[in-house]
Amino acid sequence: MKIYNTLSKSKEEFVPIEPGKVRMYVCGPTVYNLIHIGNARPMIVFDTVRRYMEHKGLEVNYVSNFTDVDDKIIKKANEEGVESTVISERYIEECKKDMASLNVKPATTHPKATEEIDGMQEMIHNLICKKHAYPAADGTVYFRTRSFAGYGKLSHKNIDDLEGGKRNLLVSGEDQKEDPLDFVLWKPKKEGEPFWEAPWCKGRPGWHIECSVMSKKYLGDEIDIHAGGEDLVFPHHENEIAQSEAANGKTFAKYWMHNAFLNIDNKKMSKSAGNFFTVRDILEKYDPMVLRFFMLSAHYRSPLNFSADLMEAAKNGLERIRTAAANLQFLVGKAEGSLTEAETALLAEAKGYEAKFDEAMDDDFNTADAISAIFELVKFINTNANAEASKAFLQALLDALLTLTDICGLIVEQKAELLDADIEALIAERQAARKAKNFARADEIRNELLEKGIILEDTREGVKWKRA
Ligand code: AMP
Ligand code: ZN
Repeated sequence: MKIYNTLSKSKEEFVPIEPGKVRMYVCGPTVYNLIHIGNARPMIVFDTVRRYMEHKGLEVNYVSNFTDVDDKIIKKANEEGVESTVISERYIEECKKDMASLNVKPATTHPKATEEIDGMQEMIHNLICKKHAYPAADGTVYFRTRSFAGYGKLSHKNIDDLEGGKRNLLVSGEDQKEDPLDFVLWKPKKEGEPFWEAPWCKGRPGWHIECSVMSKKYLGDEIDIHAGGEDLVFPHHENEIAQSEAANGKTFAKYWMHNAFLNIDNKKMSKSAGNFFTVRDILEKYDPMVLRFFMLSAHYRSPLNFSADLMEAAKNGLERIRTAAANLQFLVGKAEGSLTEAETALLAEAKGYEAKFDEAMDDDFNTADAISAIFELVKFINTNANAEASKAFLQALLDALLTLTDICGLIVEQKAELLDADIEALIAERQAARKAKNFARADEIRNELLEKGIILEDTREGVKWKRA
């Protein structure tokens, strides 16, 4: 399995630090709004990376954070006149719903920044002790960027060519940063902002420190893969490396993966330009699997253009796969018997498409080529699966097709319709589980229903449900 590593700018053979196990950290969203379709790209892409690794027998410990303290969250909270946790908790829930719709597996751990403040203070303290950070007169703590020799290695920038961040002038007009390149680890509280007690000043963490700390806490000092969108390479990931490696004295992450951006009609998505879509907007018009299929139709390092035409093409492509799966399911139900000699030979041919799929995925997760291999298998199925075939043959083809679509996280099987009474019974079981604080079971039921196209909504009057 080869992975393109932003650090070396080349494809490298993937060798996990601990054999058979993968420690992977994916930077998650800042939760101040419903997630947009750009945010869904890393979620879907890295979920597919995880699924493929699991298919290969690797055990993946997948951590993805929620940034739940940030200027945008505070601004929205002040606009609505509520605590910022009201905003962040609301959008974490909404984000989880979108992830479930898109069949993105929940992470092994979804840490939240506000619950990791102690760990952040500990790392900041450690960095100060090691002279990699310093508190300034007003209590702001800065990372001493030039003290870390490897600064720039991820983004391939020369430290002397960097301009540095905003100057930070004190009331006296004096710049309290030692160097314009230094970045913030801890900042003093401002009126109307959440804050925590700290040795340097009452305040809150800078953004970069949270990922260094959560990655260390849940995955250890050295991890296999650190991932996110390409906008995070600089400064976010560069700063994470500086903080983690200066504090821990070890290589932070072996492989750095970055997805390219999703654009709308070849333009950058932006609210002000009026070409901004939340995942929810798109799911009003399309089956979530169409959006997932669309995201995987391009290689994750290629820019992806979102347009109505391309979504229609994705819809048709997915439909072809679904029709083949449905035909096979129908035929399997009627057929009998074991493999004939001719069928054994045909299955060997079908295996070739599975091998092609794996080859594409082994080449830096080339989902575009992997999907082409699925289409070749579909064509093969349409040619060779018929009412005369044996049950064993048809079942083997169905298994092959579903294995590949499962790796892509695409649900292509027709689910049997749930009766209203069954739904009500499951909702009652979920309520009982919640009452008993068995949230794992409650979530499981919610997801089970979601997979069958039933959406639950917790309201003040109780649980409401609808068919998607
Ligand atoms: P944010 O909430 O802005 O920190 O973004 C969360 C994740 O979504 C990060 O990994 C970003 O790099 C990624 N992301 C944001 N916008 C886009 C986009 N238009 N296309 C692809 N990825 C994006
Ligand atoms: Zn991060």
